[in-house]
Formats: sequence, structure tokens, C-alpha cells
Amino acid sequence: MDDCLIIGGGVVGLSLAWELAGCGLKVHVVERGQPGREASWAGAGILPAARRSPGGSPLEQLSALSRRLHAEWAERLSSETGIKTGFRVCGELHVARTAEAVARVEQEAREWEAADLCVERPTEAQVLKREPALAGVSGTTLQPSILSAAWLPEAAQIRNPRHLQALVLACRQRGVRLTSNAAVEDVATHDGKLKEVITTVGRFTAERFVLCAGAWTETLLARLGRPLPLKPIRGQMVLMKLPGQVLSCIVHEGPHYLVPRDDGRVLVGSTLEDVGFDKRTTDEAITELTMFAHSIVPALREAEIEQTWAGLRPGSALPNPLIGPLPNYENVLVAAGHFRWGLYLSPATAILLRQFMQGEKTEISLAEFQP
Ligand SMILES: Cc1cc2nc3c(=O)[nH]c(=O)nc-3n(C[C@H](O)[C@H](O)[C@H](O)COP(=O)(O)OP(=O)(O)OC[C@H]3O[C@@H](n4cnc5c(N)ncnc54)[C@H](O)[C@@H]3O)c2cc1C
Repeated sequence: MDDCLIIGGGVVGLSLAWELAGCGLKVHVVERGQPGREASWAGAGILPAARRSPGGSPLEQLSALSRRLHAEWAERLSSETGIKTGFRVCGELHVARTAEAVARVEQEAREWEAADLCVERPTEAQVLKREPALAGVSGTTLQPSILSAAWLPEAAQIRNPRHLQALVLACRQRGVRLTSNAAVEDVATHDGKLKEVITTVGRFTAERFVLCAGAWTETLLARLGRPLPLKPIRGQMVLMKLPGQVLSCIVHEGPHYLVPRDDGRVLVGSTLEDVGFDKRTTDEAITELTMFAHSIVPALREAEIEQTWAGLRPGSALPNPLIGPLPNYENVLVAAGHFRWGLYLSPATAILLRQFMQGEKTEISLAEFQP
């Protein structure tokens, strides 16, 4: 019998599978579609800066552990699979072009400083020196100047589709069984234990089960009689392409951002929409994102729009993701509700669950992440 059956082959499920298999466990991932093609593929791959000193809230500790692990995992995934995940420390700029946005950037900068993140407060001239492509934003009424900015040099990015491709291959190489096109439709329980999952391709059993079904986890939890406040939050994205790279760092303005890849592509995100399980893009959102990109980096007016898409974040009404054992069940765990930061938080989530499952003291207490 498998030691562990993971429902959902997104970044959270695959990271856990890789970690468990690395410790010699027999792992089976059951995925409704193809692994790594939902939110984890749709995301931007931003890995924010984390606090430098130990301590902080459990979420800050989870972030700091993940941020450290990403650099290490990128190396290990690349040496195991030959796939480069595109991990690089590129820094991020937060800029404000309106009085309202200034108040927000200043407030955020104070919070980041208090949380011991490395933050600088560049002048407009310093911003433009770092990113000359933003130069067009100054000097006309249509493109107001940068009134305030914060620079976080330690922020990084991964090319999430490549990270997922590497995880899938690395899992297979470690002997993880991956069953694709198998949706878990029901569960069979007995005496406080989950016995088997009933899927569209058959029934599977294991010693333990972990629910990692992203925005769809709520449906599974409801079948186990433990509904939790999780729901999908749609995010739309535009991928632009120029012949060469115009930006070097991630640029944020309010809810919008630009993530430059290293090949002339720029991701433009995103929206936060509570519209159920609807993954369609809308003309309004794509226009809004395109106009934002054109207004902040004028060179992007020449860019080709290569692709647009939407993904469903595993949204949660809770402040922290859910990581840990499901009450009333001896052998069921949950890793879900990572909302906007599942790519970022996935390595630490995997490590903590693996430590818990192996009876070790977890590096960060799971108390605040209890489902
Ligand atoms: C537009 C956008 C931008 C984002 N940007 C970032 C970012 O910059 N940085 C960051 O850290 N995060 C970002 N995120 C959030 C991040 O993508 C998610 O938090 C993360 O991908 C969640 O991973 P997951 O494995 O929980 O979910 P998913 O990737 O959705 O994986 C869940 C998997 O479970 C499968 N599944 C569902 N139901 C069943 C079932 N019944 N049976 C079998 N399988 C099932 C699904 O098919 C899916 O493959 C972004 C998200 C979006 C949409």
C-alpha cells in the first residue's frame, strides 16, 4: 500500500510528493487533469522578500523558510532534472503615481521595515536610473511622475511553468506514482479514518491522504463533513513580448504588476475576482491590464500580446493557509488555501508536513495553520 496519497498535483501537492519521496516514502499523486496546469501554472511566480531576522508571526516564519528554500530547491531541481526553473533575485519596485497610492506605498514601506525586510526608499531619479524604461511616466499629465517608491532588493521570481515541469520530472525520478486525468469524486471513510478515494478511473487507498486540491479543496472537505471557508478567486493575466528585455525588476503599482522574464517577455497582472469557478478572461480586465502596462512602461506599447489567461487562486477567509491534520480524522491532512502566495509558500509547506508526518518536531509550529 502507498504511504501517502496526495489529491491534487499543483505546486503544493507536487512539492510535498517530491519531499516525501526523497525520504523514501511511497507516494501517489492523483490529479484531475494534468499536473501543474491550474493556479500554479497561471501564477506570476513572484517570490517576495522575507524578514531577515528570526521570529515574527508564523506566516512571516513560513515566508522566510520558503524564501530560503526556493534558492536551494532551484539548484536541486536543476541538478536532478536538468530543468532551470528561472529562479533569480531580481528585486521589486513599488511605485505610486497618485496621492492615494503614495499613502499606500508609504504605509506598506513602514510595515515592511517593521517586519525587518530589506527596504529602500529611492527618489524618482534613483528609480529612473534603476529602470530607465519607466522614464516615459514622467513629464506629461497623461503619465504623471513617480511620487513615491519603495525598493525591495531581495524579492525574486521563478518561471512557474518550468518549476512545475521540473517538479513533475523530479517526482517521477524519485518513484512517485502520478495518476493524471483522475478526479476524486467521493471518499469512503470508516471509524475516523479515510479508507479510499473514489475517482473517475477507480478507487485508491493509502496509509495517509493529503488534500492539496487548491481552489477545489472545499468540495473534498465538505465530503468529509469538515467544510472550511475556502473559495476560488480569479486572477487574469496578459503576457507581452518584445524583441529584447526592457525591465530588470518586478514593478508593482497598487494591485497591478509587471514581471519581466529574461527573454523579452513581460507578465502583466492581475485581478482579484470573486466569480466562482469561472476561468474565462474578460475584455474589461485585459484592457485594464494592457492600459496599465502601456502607461507605466511606454515601450510596452510596441509589445505583442502573446497570450492571456485566468487562473483560480485557492482563496481563503482565513489569515493563514491551512497546513496540518484534519480534526476528527486520524489519517487525513490538508495543505490548501495559500491564496496569492502558493508558489512562494510551497517549499516550506512541504517541509513542515513531511516533518509532521514523520513524527518530527516541525520547524515552525503548525498551531496557527490548523485546518
Ligand atoms: C493570476 C495569478 C497570479 C498569481 N501569482 C502568484 C505569485 O506571483 N506568487 C505566488 O506565490 N503565487 C501566485 N499565485 C497563487 C498561486 O498560483 C497559488 O496559490 C498556488 O498555485 C496554489 O497551488 P495549489 O497546488 O494549492 O493549487 P493548484 O495549482 O490549483 O492545484 C490544485 C490541483 O488540484 C487538482 N484537483 C482539484 N480537484 C481535484 C479532485 N477532485 N481530484 C483530483 N485533483 C483535483 C487540480 O486539477 C489542480 O491541478 C497566483 C495565482 C494566480 C491565479
